[in-house]
Amino acid sequence: MNGDSLGEDMLKDVEPKVHCRVMDLVRNAGVNIDDWVNFRKGPKPTHAASNPKYCYEWAFVEEGKVVVFNLWYDSMRVNGDTLIQSINPRKFGEDVGKVRSATWARRATRMDLAMQLAFRKKLPIRVIVCQGDMRSAEDPDAEPSHVYKRLLDPEPWAISAYDFSTGDCIITRGAEPDRYSDQFDEPMGSAQPEQRDANGKVYVRDAGVRALVLKRAGGKCEFCGVPGFVKYDGRTYLETHHIVPLSESGADKVGNVIALCPNHHREAHFSNKRAVLRAELQQIVARSSGG
Ligand SMILES: [Zn+2]
Ligand SMILES: [Zn+2]
Repeated sequence: MNGDSLGEDMLKDVEPKVHCRVMDLVRNAGVNIDDWVNFRKGPKPTHAASNPKYCYEWAFVEEGKVVVFNLWYDSMRVNGDTLIQSINPRKFGEDVGKVRSATWARRATRMDLAMQLAFRKKLPIRVIVCQGDMRSAEDPDAEPSHVYKRLLDPEPWAISAYDFSTGDCIITRGAEPDRYSDQFDEPMGSAQPEQRDANGKVYVRDAGVRALVLKRAGGKCEFCGVPGFVKYDGRTYLETHHIVPLSESGADKVGNVIALCPNHHREAHFSNKRAVLRAELQQIVARSSGG
């Protein structure tokens, strides 16, 4: 079957060929490794790469930027036209904690927390693909895992599903986390002028429509072209605006929603020229959906 060979090719793409140091790969993935030289008993710069505080970790976090995971090559699966890894470090930690060292359990917990963070903040994932002997979680006499070869996959991954109640997680190669964000992603964003009408009626917005509009805008105000600012979580901020308000029965559709910088969003609502502005915004959206 064609599909099988395609799958084999995808796996070959990420097969590690050489043994690289974790520290180097983690740094190449964009994580600050300055603290690796700091051992408990004073700095030993020459041994930074073997600092036990870091070199056995399964997850590395650079706040707001990237999360790096060590994943086993043998656990990668082909799913359609991409690679995924289905993983549950929380469960692994519970299993391994019962029979073996608490260190592994803590490591697994930290990996689970890193997944939650990456999922919530939509951070890109970089994957260090490991090949070697995986240790068994159930067997108390199992040898520790040995990694013989490692590779930093140049392709970014993303968490495509995470179940907060169970810890089940699916990491997908090539999936992109959302790069854009609007006022409704923030708790304080609920005080927007078009959220309620005069009678207190709440309008529900389609999150998918907002995401499509933000993607169409590509991080720039669709009215003035000025880039939105970069948020604390690395995403680019613009505000989504219904050109014909929901309260006037405007459609919650891509053709009636525009991404604006905060300034132009306020203008669209409160300017003395808002009627003219509304017509202009309609033309802009019509043009961009027309091709
Ligand atoms: Zn603008
Ligand atoms: Zn608005």
